[in-house]
Amino acid sequence: MFQNNIEYARKQDAEDSLASFRNKFHIPKNDFGEEMVYLCGNSLGLQPKITSEYIQEVLNDWAKFGVEGHTEAKNAWLPYHEFLAENMAKIVGAKPSEVVVMNTLTTNLHLMMVSFYQPTKTKYKIVVESDAFPSDKYAVESQLKFHGVDIKDALILWKPRKGEELCRFEDLEEIMKQHGNEIALLMIGSTNYYTGQSFPLKKITELGHKYKCMVGFDLAHGAGNIQPNLHETGADFAVWCTYKYLNSGPGSLGGCFVHERHANNEKLNRFAGWWGHNKKTRFNMRKDFDALPGAEGWQLSNPPILSMAAIRASLDTFAEAGFENIRKKSEKLTGYLEFLLDEMKNEAINVITPRNPEERGCQLSIQVKNADKRLHTKLTEAGVISDWREPDVIRIAPAPLYNSFEDVFKFSEKLKEVLKK
Ligand SMILES: *Cc1c(COP(=O)(O)O)cnc(C)c1O
Repeated sequence: MFQNNIEYARKQDAEDSLASFRNKFHIPKNDFGEEMVYLCGNSLGLQPKITSEYIQEVLNDWAKFGVEGHTEAKNAWLPYHEFLAENMAKIVGAKPSEVVVMNTLTTNLHLMMVSFYQPTKTKYKIVVESDAFPSDKYAVESQLKFHGVDIKDALILWKPRKGEELCRFEDLEEIMKQHGNEIALLMIGSTNYYTGQSFPLKKITELGHKYKCMVGFDLAHGAGNIQPNLHETGADFAVWCTYKYLNSGPGSLGGCFVHERHANNEKLNRFAGWWGHNKKTRFNMRKDFDALPGAEGWQLSNPPILSMAAIRASLDTFAEAGFENIRKKSEKLTGYLEFLLDEMKNEAINVITPRNPEERGCQLSIQVKNADKRLHTKLTEAGVISDWREPDVIRIAPAPLYNSFEDVFKFSEKLKEVLKK
């Protein structure tokens, strides 16, 4: 059904109901003022043009009101995080009370593990997918160490089989059969940053709960990319960042999900701060900690409003496009990329990401035989911004909000050229 020519790609763009959204973003240009082919939204999403207005509004209110901005600002700072909850909840398929924007991803992961990893003498192991993102691995290992648990004994890796790149659900089932009674937590990246594989979150949650384990997901590569339907999966918690597919700017705040069944769960440990305290008495200052129900109760500090303004701008853009439309375009756009790679019939390249659209987001990870980082440099020189992961993988992520079918076509032509050299 797809065709390998630029006229076809342009026709798809002309018929794309989301095509106009590209104009709402700043697209990086080369020294000659030509737009680059930006396929790196999995690492840092592009800047929506409205972001500067949203941030300027906060700067203006701060100039105008000083401290009074907490209540007098156009969008008051005191409840500012609440303006984000509803749109963010839609993106991850949760109820607004289950979602809060706060801190950054790794910080939230630690806070969640403080609450959801409470090892006992007999139930203390943690399962992670092998080749998890380094920060997740460090966080999990340091939590084990913090509890005095031997990492070698307690950390179980869900690994691809020999000679394979992807993790199989049956192998996780086998791990649970063997060690389920000793496992306290399953901590899985929803969409693996390296392979692009999206895991079956609901099945994993049900499996974990069958063995009375807590289940948490890292949605760094899921949020804004796939629909994780967090509430429905029943997961205990999830964390994510907003600077990748959610286009909220470098180092912007993270998101956190706590399932509503834990909204008032007093059995959970918690590292607390004043922003998680009952809003009515927060400023009385001398009260004992009285946790807000739901995810908000995990907040520590009064948040950076300037950064939240960028998140608001981005979420408004997502809401305008509608996540279902975004996902629909994403499947087609990535399908087109896959088609063009197949058409190259080049034995040196191998897409390691699953072929089934339900098992992936927009990213395809392309393994290139005998290649090294010079390939990535050549692509950059040819005007493609992509991402290289050692030892031999280029990650290409056409983001449906701002990437076009023409971008994908141009990339495939440039890759062909570069591989010939
Ligand atoms: C991007 C990413 C991170 C980064 O964590 P920060 O705390 O935001 O720096 C962590 N984990 C995964 C899986 C990621 O993809």
